[in-house]
Amino acid sequence: MLNKEQLTRLKERLLDVREALVRDVDHIQKHSNDEYESEAPDINDEASRTYSRNLMLSRGEAERHQLKLIDEALSAIESGDYGVCVDCESEIPFERLLSVPYVERCVNCMTKFEDKQRGQ
Ligand SMILES: [Zn+2]
Repeated sequence: MLNKEQLTRLKERLLDVREALVRDVDHIQKHSNDEYESEAPDINDEASRTYSRNLMLSRGEAERHQLKLIDEALSAIESGDYGVCVDCESEIPFERLLSVPYVERCVNCMTKFEDKQRGQ
């Protein structure tokens, strides 16, 4: 079980990561249109322009997904369900949570999950 001090540290980590992400998403949204294109070095190259735009979009999506995980982790801390693997319901070690505080799975289930995703 995580103690109160560990939970507090993890909550702070989550809030820090969240703040940085919100800034990033905000930045991506502001720069994903005209402004970003005008910053692109090779503005006449239609292919590279489209590529940059797609890259920005998928980056933004990944970050929004991450934000969702962080919000879920924060509410799990409030409800006392934090740090439990969503698949096998075993406790996720504190060290693992400290490096990725919004991680949803223990190492075993993450490996299985990734193998399954690669297989699809
Ligand atoms: Zn698990």
